[in-house]
Amino acid sequence: MNREKSEKLFIEAEKYIPGGVNSPVRAFKSVDMPPVFVDHGKGSRIYDVDGNEYTDYICSWGPLILGHASPVYYEGIQEALEKGTTFGAPTAIEVEIAKLITEAYPSMEMVRMVSSGTEATMSALRVARGFTGRDKIIKFEGCYHGHSDGLLVKSGSGTLTFGVPTSSGVTPGTAKDTLVATYNDIESVKALFAENPGEIAAVIVEPVAGNMGVVPPDLDFMKGLRKITESEGTVLIFDEVITGFRLAYGGAQEVLGIKPDMTTLGKIIGGGMPVGAFGGRREIMEMVAPLGGVYQAGTLSGNPIAMKMGLNTLTYLRDHPEVYEGLEEKAKRLEAGFKANIEKTGVKAQMVRFKGMTCLFFTDQPIDSYAAVMTSDTRAYTQYFKSMLEAGNFLPPAQFEAIFISDAHTLQDIEKTIEDNYQALKKLK
Ligand SMILES: *Cc1c(COP(=O)(O)O)cnc(C)c1O
Repeated sequence: MNREKSEKLFIEAEKYIPGGVNSPVRAFKSVDMPPVFVDHGKGSRIYDVDGNEYTDYICSWGPLILGHASPVYYEGIQEALEKGTTFGAPTAIEVEIAKLITEAYPSMEMVRMVSSGTEATMSALRVARGFTGRDKIIKFEGCYHGHSDGLLVKSGSGTLTFGVPTSSGVTPGTAKDTLVATYNDIESVKALFAENPGEIAAVIVEPVAGNMGVVPPDLDFMKGLRKITESEGTVLIFDEVITGFRLAYGGAQEVLGIKPDMTTLGKIIGGGMPVGAFGGRREIMEMVAPLGGVYQAGTLSGNPIAMKMGLNTLTYLRDHPEVYEGLEEKAKRLEAGFKANIEKTGVKAQMVRFKGMTCLFFTDQPIDSYAAVMTSDTRAYTQYFKSMLEAGNFLPPAQFEAIFISDAHTLQDIEKTIEDNYQALKKLK
């Protein structure tokens, strides 16, 4: 494929934007090539500025559950734009989306809208601290919760890819309140509680880890988290920024049958616009200003245009449960196809799937932990990524990311990708 225009744009971009991109993983740095500049998308496809076509398995890293440029997102947007884009005063649609979210997530008795997943998790932690009067939090190595200071400690996603799981610029004073446990290992959590009695405000977890590739949760581990947080008076926060409205309409908490105290949402809830949300039990959310003493605010929070696109998406998902059946069917086909290819080619790889979330790891270790993930051969991934890209598959440009599919992907798209995967794996041998 010729990507001359992308290459030229990147040289220009690097002059003005750090690394040429506005979010690190977009840079393709870990796969050792210049990034693809996108011109437009439609359904399961994206088209780059040189006119190349790809089946997109990034889907904006999760938000586009209905694919690119679905008319569903845009319904009523022209009228909404004509009314004005932002007021800094409440609008009716904010009530509508809050009602819809709290109905879908019964654990969220009240919800506050923000403009990103980062804001959602950062605010949820502040509320949990205000509520408990405690300082420390527990997170899990390899889980990513956005880029706020206290959460950039042994983090996932781009921080893993670029070798900065604990970011520089985070003060030791901030980092010391973030305790790090091991995902799927309840003993590591019990040990931290034992070492810090009465001091832990919150445990924050991705109920299905999706930022170190995909690591399915051990159900006993998740139940153990619920049990220990309950008995310690600690707020359990499910970070469902990826899993919310993706694993199921009611998210991971519905699938796992576990009710957290607080939940953070993002990605899908904006229908492609910058939106996040945090919510939880009423007595906890009553801590938030102007009701309570925990301050949290935003000039563009609950922005009516973003709310409209979000509401359009969520309403569609509520009324079309078959979207979730379709996602799972496609993910299952991808899993079966990739597994058969691994067997046929003898490449050391693991195909992981949990509901509609999947990831291909280049390791012979079964994927049940951060340690297993870290045995992956990232050089093999780079080579694989490039072959797949040349064959027209836009995969995450890093090993430690999930594959995202949308309702717009067809079984034919999946079959072609399975065939391309076979050819790519064969070349690795
Ligand atoms: C993407 C993500 C975030 C951060 O959301 P942004 O909108 O990028 O700030 C937080 N938590 C999880 C689990 C995520 O996947």
